Formats: sequence, structure tokens, C-alpha cells
Amino acid sequence: MAVELNTAVPHSARIYDHLLGGKDNFEADRAAAAEIVKSSPSLPISMRANRNYLARTARYLAADLGIRQFLDIGAGLPTAPNLHEVVQGVDPTSRVVYVDNDPIVLVHARALLTSAPGGSTAYLDADLNDAELIINSPEVRALDFSRPIAISLIAVLQFVTDEDRAHRIIDTLMAPLAPGSALAISTVTAHNEQAVQGAKVYTARGIPAKPRTDDEVAGLFRGLELVDPGVTLVNRWRPDPAAPPVDDSHVQMSGGVALKR
Ligand code: SAH
Repeated sequence: MAVELNTAVPHSARIYDHLLGGKDNFEADRAAAAEIVKSSPSLPISMRANRNYLARTARYLAADLGIRQFLDIGAGLPTAPNLHEVVQGVDPTSRVVYVDNDPIVLVHARALLTSAPGGSTAYLDADLNDAELIINSPEVRALDFSRPIAISLIAVLQFVTDEDRAHRIIDTLMAPLAPGSALAISTVTAHNEQAVQGAKVYTARGIPAKPRTDDEVAGLFRGLELVDPGVTLVNRWRPDPAAPPVDDSHVQMSGGVALKR
């Protein structure tokens, strides 16, 4: 498969990979990352906290809510533990569809596609702005729509800067899902000065990004029922008591999990 890769322009997936200590990034990504970290030195800690949140929400969706089908949009480059590893750790027959729009994530998708026997993982190269296309794709429609599906939008909605559009995307994705389905979100918070500055640098580098207030994040869940503790900084969402606590001042993402009744 031919993949179009513009390595001269920074991309969020590769900036993120670099900040998490990965190798799947280029000079333009590292330069952008260095500039972002200058105005936002807590960002690597924040991204780690977000990644841990991704794993905790996935475990909650699988172990506490009993969900066995997952759609992870804005999946990013493979970083252990990946969502399918968490949920297939709960039940190996769990099925996961990953979606991202970055060509380099597509290149590495094979690493994501290793499934436990009995379960499945699929990868779809698509844009979150094309929610209709995603939810009607053969990859997603291979899931059983008579049973609950959990959608994860982790660290991606900050790149959907228009509020009406964000609402439309979420409505389109949730509408065909069965009762008991769930939505997990994290996105850049407006309640942290470094996060606000970081979003400005992204925007200046050609990647428009929008910080959101807790009220705006809660608004993304309209029509759904937030589970405890509602919308919080990601480090405060059902923290693992065994893990070292992360100071709020370092955390630039807020989020929550909600149910469709
Ligand atoms: N969810 C992962 C990765 C977050 S980085 C985690 O939290 O660890 C954000 C990811 O969203 C990147 O991989 C980027 O390529 C992807 N992304 C950004 N805009 C997107 C869009 N419009 N459609 C699909 N994916 C997008």
C-alpha cells in the first residue's frame, strides 16, 4: 500500500510519540515538540498521565461495565499497553477497531493488529471529521450493533476546534449504538495555563488545537449519563491507589466516561 508521508510538516501523532519517548517521528516533529515543551514543560508528564487514563478507562469499560467491543478513534502510534491489550486482558474475545488519520500510524498499524486468539483488532485509516463514514465502515459494522460498544476519543477532540462540529461528530457516532454503550473522552483543559500556551504553539505550527473548560467537556457528553466522578483532570479519574499520585499542576487534560441509556 502506498502511503503519503510528509515528514517536513509536524504531525500530532509523531509529536506525541516523541514526547512519550518513542522513535516513530521526524525532525519537524521533534522541533515542534521542543518548542511546545519550552512553553509547556509539564507536557511529557501530562501525556503519560493521559496514557494511564486511557488504560484505566479501558479497564473500567471492560471489567466494570462488561463491554466487549471498542472503537478507539485517534488511536495514535502503538504505545504499551495499547487499548486492545488492556481489554483483551479482561476478556480475550474482546473486539477492537482502531481509527487514525495519520499515515505513519497506518504504517505502524500492524503492531496494533496483533489480537489475542478469539478476539479481533482492525484498523481504519479515516478522519474523525468523517464520523458518518467511520460508523458505517465495514470495519466498524463488523461489530455487533445489538450489543454495547465503547467509543474512546482520547486526546483527539482538542483538534476538533468547532464546538458544533464536535457535538455533531459525537451524536453521529453514538446514535446507532445499543443502550449500555459508552463514551470515554480526554481533551486539553482550559484550566491550565501551560495547556493553553501549548495549544497556541500547536495552532501556530499549523495544527489548530482548542483547550476546553470543564463545562465544555461536560457538554460533549450531552444526552449521556456521566459516571462518577464526572469530568475531572485525567489523573483524578478513578486513580489507581497503587500508582504514585501526579500533581494537578502538571496535568493538561480533562475527561470522563458516560453511558448511553
Ligand atoms: N489516543 C492516543 C493518541 C493521542 S495523540 C493516546 O491518548 O495516547 C492524537 C491522535 O489523534 C494522533 O494519532 C493523531 O494522528 C490523531 N488525530 C488527530 N486528528 C485526527 C482526526 N481528525 N481524525 C483521526 N485522527 C486524528
